[in-house]
Amino acid sequence: MPATIVAGNWKMNTTLEEARELAEGVRSLADNTGGVETILCPPAISLSAVKEAVSGSTVKVGAQNMHWEDSGAFTGEVSPAMLVGLCEYVILGHSERRQLFGETDAQINQKVKAAFRHGLKPILCVGETLEERESGQAREIMARQVMSGLDGTVGLDINGLVVAYEPVWAIGTGQAATPDIAAEIMGGSILEALHSLFGPDADDIPLLYGGSVNVGNIADFASQSCIHGALVGGASLQAESFMEIARLAG
Ligand code: 13P
Repeated sequence: MPATIVAGNWKMNTTLEEARELAEGVRSLADNTGGVETILCPPAISLSAVKEAVSGSTVKVGAQNMHWEDSGAFTGEVSPAMLVGLCEYVILGHSERRQLFGETDAQINQKVKAAFRHGLKPILCVGETLEERESGQAREIMARQVMSGLDGTVGLDINGLVVAYEPVWAIGTGQAATPDIAAEIMGGSILEALHSLFGPDADDIPLLYGGSVNVGNIADFASQSCIHGALVGGASLQAESFMEIARLAG
């Protein structure tokens, strides 16, 4: 059975001071989440402060993105080597990166491989747009995003890999997918793609649902056997709601 994980993607929110306060708030509630693993993914500039705020607790830290090269002339980018020691996880291929910053499947694949090379745990995000869903392509596109994101990783130590299904139409809209729709994709094309790559080891990979998760709907998602937690955006910006989501996911 994969671990149950609830990760908070703070996106481009929180100043340094706000990030520290939010992390301290989460930390103060960390005893109430049972065995659920909680991960905070603040903006890169606040990783160090958040790491310090949660140190000694069970709360983990993740980055929201990174480049695949270790160093070089890539103005504004953060490298995997810089993240080592600052965080355990890194979100890769978020739909906002794909859509707003033009990240391709090939680039995301480079990032995933770089994460494994550096011992960082990738949270690989996949998700179809509304148009793709309405034209009946969701399953095929989800399989393709998983396969291409993980291309060349068979045979590597994939321990720590997490896959998050975040349908683009459900992100930040208040219109979460239904648990049935999420389970159809996650237990269907995503799990099948992971099986075709990793065989039975695929059953140990935590699959998270993301897109308008809140305290009112998390239990329904978590009750699906193929959903092992959530990647939470808006509701992760408030310590109490984030930790209540984590508690309810367990
Ligand atoms: P919301 O929870 O705000 O819909 O965001 C989901 C998300 O994109 C998490 O990565």
